[in-house]
Amino acid sequence: MKVNRRGFLKLSGGAVGVSVLGIGVGTVEAHAEPLAIQYAKETTSICPYCAVGCGLIVHTRAGEVINTEGDPEHPINRGTLCPKGSSVYQLRHNEKRITEPMYRAQGTKEWKKVSWDWALDEIARKVKETRDATFMENNAKGQRVNRTDGIASVGSAALDNEECYLYQKFLRSLGLVYIEHQARI
Ligand code: SF4
Repeated sequence: MKVNRRGFLKLSGGAVGVSVLGIGVGTVEAHAEPLAIQYAKETTSICPYCAVGCGLIVHTRAGEVINTEGDPEHPINRGTLCPKGSSVYQLRHNEKRITEPMYRAQGTKEWKKVSWDWALDEIARKVKETRDATFMENNAKGQRVNRTDGIASVGSAALDNEECYLYQKFLRSLGLVYIEHQARI
C-alpha cells in the first residue's frame, strides 16, 4: 500500500490513540502476582526492642515466619515501625546472626566459639559461686532481705512479655534486685 505524508500522519495518530487507550494490536494476557503473604497465618505481637511497644503482625506459613510488618490497628504505632522494628524479621532470618555461644576469656581480645553445654555449665557455676559469696539474709538493720548485691541482669531485647515474666521470677528467686530489660535502656 502506498501511503502519502498526510496518510502516514493519520495512521500514526490512530496507532498512538489506540496505544493510549490500551488497545494493542496483539493480545496481552492480564494477570496478578499472588501476594507473598497469601494464605499465611497472621499473629499479632509486640516489637521487643524498646519501651514504645509498637504492634506487629507476624505472618507464618507451615510454622515458619515469612513476613513481619507494623499492625495498622495497633493504637500506638498504627502500622508504622522505626528502622529497628522494621528489621525484626531478622530475629528469625539473618545469616549473620550468631547462633552459637561465644566466649572471651578474661584478659584476652579474641572471642571463641564454645559449646552450649560448656557455656551453660560455666554460667551456672559462676552464678552459684557469686550468689553464695554475696547472699545477704538480713540487712544492717536486722531486717530480713534475702538478696544478693553481687549479680545484676540486663535482659534480652528479644524476650516477649511472657518470657520476661518467667525470667523475672527466676531472677527474684535467686535474690537479685538489680534487674533491667533492654527495652528500658
Ligand atoms: S524499636 Fe521502634 S518499632 Fe520497636 S517498639 Fe521501639 S519505636 Fe516501635
